[in-house]
Amino acid sequence: MARKLGVRDLELQGKRVFCRVDYNVPLTGGKVGDDTRIRATLPTLRLLSDRGARTVLASHLGRPRGQPNPSLSLSVVAEHLSRLLGRAVAFSPECVGETAEQAARAVPPGEFLLLENLRFHKGEEANDPAFSSALTRLGDVYVNEAFGTAHRAHASTVGVPALLKPAAAGLLMDAELQHLGRVLERPESPFVAILGGAKVSDKIELIENLLPRVDAFLVGGAMAYTFLKAFLKPVGKSLVEEDRVTLAKALVQKARAAGHDFVLPVDHVVTVGGKDDAYRTTEGVEIVGDEVGSDIGPKTAEIFSARIGAARMVLWNGPLGRFEVEAFSRGTRQVAEALAASAATSIVGGGDTAAAVASFHLADRMTHVSTGGGAALEYLSGLPLPGVEILDDAR
Ligand code: AMP
Repeated sequence: MARKLGVRDLELQGKRVFCRVDYNVPLTGGKVGDDTRIRATLPTLRLLSDRGARTVLASHLGRPRGQPNPSLSLSVVAEHLSRLLGRAVAFSPECVGETAEQAARAVPPGEFLLLENLRFHKGEEANDPAFSSALTRLGDVYVNEAFGTAHRAHASTVGVPALLKPAAAGLLMDAELQHLGRVLERPESPFVAILGGAKVSDKIELIENLLPRVDAFLVGGAMAYTFLKAFLKPVGKSLVEEDRVTLAKALVQKARAAGHDFVLPVDHVVTVGGKDDAYRTTEGVEIVGDEVGSDIGPKTAEIFSARIGAARMVLWNGPLGRFEVEAFSRGTRQVAEALAASAATSIVGGGDTAAAVASFHLADRMTHVSTGGGAALEYLSGLPLPGVEILDDAR
């Protein structure tokens, strides 16, 4: 894909920049919980401020379904952002209309205004042209720093940048596209893709798109049981997508016929009797009776770690077990540690995988941890991201 125009390429002094950010953060007790997404935008915000831009920030928060909802107001985010930046951040209680327009006109060079939740209006998710043109009145140029919503064709991600030019990528958006694009455009062999998570059905396009590029797939998580079942291995009561068993088998055969390894777990940690506090490690691949596969076993973790150690590039999407529960987090942790220790280019995508790596305090040992769950998955699956396509190409 052609490189997109970047925020650094823009003439910013005195300009009102309509900047789409992803401040869809968890709120606990009316306060911002994990603020990773806010912090991730700070380099772009500092650049905008240093270059004298008058920045109007726009985001969604939660799912208010087109209705104002005080519990999903971005005003708490404005306060939090103000503390992180060490300067006042103005807040507009409306994201369109006269109040918002006056507030946007009043932003001095180098300063910030955050608009109220875009999704308080139905026009946002509907990509309504009238709503887009109302938002467009708030800026002179457009910057998208919300990679996590780039797979959605909404007013603020597609409608506005279609009208408000130039339309550029923020620093984080640009970094995401560079790192994820590198996996697709310049894979380095041996290239290993580690896939996990809940469902095969979510990852079929990803597997198909990576197939010509990778040397080996390492598969764990719940999705592994659909593959194991396809090869007639007993999986007990583990999660299986029955309607994908045939397809799973065809995918493995296709990969192997093309000379790629498709590595499935050889042992597991299973719950016994449906309770998380009763579990055991299996000897081999078989899961019996009412046992439920909840993590890859130690032999599998060793095999995966050795593959990672020998790789030059590793892409990881999806946890290898129910890592949220300590007893079933070991496989995911061991793979994260192997990846942290390896010299390979390591690209981690997917919200849960990023959360797992962060919980092990290993995020800064990876080449890149994507902030976009669904957007990263779609991009790596070869699907066009509407919020990226609409941005101007670099000059
Ligand atoms: P995904 O959103 O597809 O990446 O899936 C992430 C979810 O998969 C996490 O919440 C994990 O707890 C879950 N998961 C991973 N392994 C298993 C498993 N063996 N059984 C049930 N859920 C799992």
